[in-house]
Amino acid sequence: MNPTPASPDRLDQTLNRVFGYRQFRPHQRQIIEQLVAGQSAFVLMPTGGGKSLCYQIPALLRPGVGIVISPLISLMKDQVDALRANGVTAAFYNSSLSPDNARQVLAQLHSGELDLLYIAPERLMRADFIERLRDIEIALIAIDEAHCVSQWGHDFRPEYAQLGELETLFPQVPRIALTATADPQTRKDILRVLKLEQAACHITGFDRPNIRYSVLEKHNPLSQLQQFLANHADEAGIIYALSRKRVERLTAQLYEKGFRAAAYHAGLSAEQRAWVQDQFLRDEIDIVVATVAFGMGIDKPDVRFVVHYDLPKNIESYYQETGRAGRDGLPAEALLLFGTQDMVLVRQLVESGDNPERVRIELHKLNTMIALAESVTCRRQVLLNYFGEQIEGCGNCDLCLDPPETFDATEDARKALSCVYRVGQAFGIRHVVDVLRGADTERIRRLGHDQLSTYGIGSDKSEIEWSSLIRQLIHHGYLLQDIEHYSVLRLTPEARPVLRGEKQLQLALPRTREKAKRKTRAP
Ligand code: ADP
Ligand code: ZN
Repeated sequence: MNPTPASPDRLDQTLNRVFGYRQFRPHQRQIIEQLVAGQSAFVLMPTGGGKSLCYQIPALLRPGVGIVISPLISLMKDQVDALRANGVTAAFYNSSLSPDNARQVLAQLHSGELDLLYIAPERLMRADFIERLRDIEIALIAIDEAHCVSQWGHDFRPEYAQLGELETLFPQVPRIALTATADPQTRKDILRVLKLEQAACHITGFDRPNIRYSVLEKHNPLSQLQQFLANHADEAGIIYALSRKRVERLTAQLYEKGFRAAAYHAGLSAEQRAWVQDQFLRDEIDIVVATVAFGMGIDKPDVRFVVHYDLPKNIESYYQETGRAGRDGLPAEALLLFGTQDMVLVRQLVESGDNPERVRIELHKLNTMIALAESVTCRRQVLLNYFGEQIEGCGNCDLCLDPPETFDATEDARKALSCVYRVGQAFGIRHVVDVLRGADTERIRRLGHDQLSTYGIGSDKSEIEWSSLIRQLIHHGYLLQDIEHYSVLRLTPEARPVLRGEKQLQLALPRTREKAKRKTRAP
């Protein structure tokens, strides 16, 4: 293709003629311009935000082939088919190809025909393949699902860790790393591992304002679900459950009650899964009851609701799964049924892992998910805070629409914050609560924390009240939990005016079980 620098209208023309779209979405143009100019970029954009065009268009506008690294073989084929339908010369190179097809792709690669080549990381990094690439002009290297490089991510893949070498192997080639899922720690890892510290970062909003988030305390899940579904007759939705067994059972129960529902999990044959997916896309069935296996690469814009029948393991999964609702921008709902039993179950599941370091990370993530479910602060605020974005109350979640009672928490907040300070910003929530409440434990005596001025100053309040207060202080940005160091609490600069008594704080009373129950029963 033509190697001249991209003028703005060349970008627009490619967008219109090749992809049939009228205008760029926020950030797309800037990212594309940078890549075309030979700069590297890091893109953090929610699912459905339009990441693919950010490398597809520059691959067309720069000379040479665009190499796209993706971990998902099934998605490669979809992407390549879609590109070919638009007249782009694209191919994929992975273990699903027959030897003949593989040879054909390599021939295309060497003849310079290809605009885009999708490839799995382990294939790309093989010495013989790298050797091949030395003779070939490369337009850019895109690293999709870049969170796979991070141990902190929920989807760590060791073969991704090698991709840092690309910087030394192809120093002249611009690289772009893309992900939809990255808490600040994962983000840092991506830049470090992929040696993209110098790259331009594009972080777009994670907010999906059309999704209404709510959480119900789970007491009679099937009837709670039915009540919810009664408001969504004939609409398309996904219900996530923890295990294959639960998926099967719930599907049967819904089917019996007359819902057009089907099950989806990794235990089904590839044909069965493809069939369910297809029926769902064509609105032949309304509800897919699924394990987390369902959803990657599903591009159904009018999913009106996503229900979590069981507790997700972490906020990333929750965000990604709920994000499959309302891609068309119209109102959609995300409902989580949250039960204490599930909490125990999921914790056991996580703890049964055999890598202690992973278990520690996943437990931390599970705890943040639980904190979201138990939150008395706007759900969206908690969710976005997790991704490093600050917002005020959203007006479109259960807590904003039906706010919990609040109280003047200024004094209590000062007590909690100064206790965090007194224990040296080196302990987690439970210990701080113990010190505040004056717990008489061996650990506290051994640490000498019974000698602190904050020991026992909060004995008038229950453990639940203190934990709730501390969680709110985290959600509002006065405290943070250091995931790199055993979830210890630290003060943020925001805490200072509160400690000095210069700022009043109004916080929510924890929702008692009884009240929560009454609420869920009332229509
Ligand atoms: P992501 O990879 O971020 O999840 P995709 O690249 O798959 O998102 O894009 C999501 C959907 O949005 C696709 O159907 C894509 O064709 C569409 N899309 C992307 N950019 C635009 C645009 N500028 N105008 C209209 N639709 C777009
Ligand atoms: Zn809200």
